[in-house]
Amino acid sequence: MLDYDLHCHSNISDGTLTPAELVDRAAVRGVKVLALTDHDDVDGLDEARAAAARHGMAFINGAEISVSWRTHTLHIVGLNISPDYPPLVEGLRSVRSGRSERAKKMADELAKSGIAGALEGAYRYADNPNLISRTHFARFLVESGQCKDVKSVFNRYLVKGKPGYVPHKWAMLEDAVEWIRGSGGVAVLAHPGRYMSGRGGMGNKTMRELLAEFIACGGRAIEVISGSHTPEQYAEFARYAEEFNLLCSCGSDFHGPGESYRDMGRLPDFPLGCRPVWEAFSLNGLNSKIETLTPSPSPACGRG
Ligand code: AMP
Ligand code: MN
Ligand code: MN
Ligand code: MN
Repeated sequence: MLDYDLHCHSNISDGTLTPAELVDRAAVRGVKVLALTDHDDVDGLDEARAAAARHGMAFINGAEISVSWRTHTLHIVGLNISPDYPPLVEGLRSVRSGRSERAKKMADELAKSGIAGALEGAYRYADNPNLISRTHFARFLVESGQCKDVKSVFNRYLVKGKPGYVPHKWAMLEDAVEWIRGSGGVAVLAHPGRYMSGRGGMGNKTMRELLAEFIACGGRAIEVISGSHTPEQYAEFARYAEEFNLLCSCGSDFHGPGESYRDMGRLPDFPLGCRPVWEAFSLNGLNSKIETLTPSPSPACGRG
């Protein structure tokens, strides 16, 4: 069992717990090294770090950046970032800024399918109004009796091809990786299994092209153990990690009690042969500043 959890969300993005509540829960669940990785926002890190210190838990600054690559939306987790690195701050601000416009369009689309008041309804669930997400719409749609749970709302309304889905252009892959790398962090391809399933999912060939480009841009790790992976996918992405010489990461992707596939911590061990992403950090004692060395992007970065 791993006592690292390097992917989770607080109410600074689409989680339901405050950063401090999240850290308390991680401590109870035996997590020894935690990264908070809110979507497109780093505002929860100070509170989480302070809470982690109270528990004697090592804390790693993180964020999960939304990226558009070809026809796909990808999530790139940055670990050990410096949250005040100006290009990262500015980049995250630009990614967040598109969300309110998208939310209006989503509400308009939902209204066309007979669901009124979704914009106000979703904002009621968004503790951070700068970070309105599909999850907040999903919670409102459950509350208003459209679906029994968040998962069914996504399947029925909020994914590609469904009535409340609005296409959106997020950050470019090379930019997101550069904000992370430039700030001293390690870029991790989050939950790759999700990009290969469902309508419009990518095949092996495209996944290989993505990994090659991600690495050319300075990406260094891939989530192998993820709350959204099956055990077969742990093995599958451990093989990709080996083939592409990527470090392996692990995280629950916890969003809140009763809502996530997986609770925090207690993640299964990596398949044999995985080199853990924390090899890129030197955890000298708790909450210490960590050094990371990532080479600069190569010309194959940004070819799409
Ligand atoms: P957004 O960044 O606004 O597009 O929202 C993406 C978030 O929606 C993800 O981070 C997940 O928390 C959630 N999500 C996406 N797909 C699903 C799904 N099929 N079931 C449940 N939650 C989902
Ligand atoms: Mn989320
Ligand atoms: Mn994600
Ligand atoms: Mn996530």
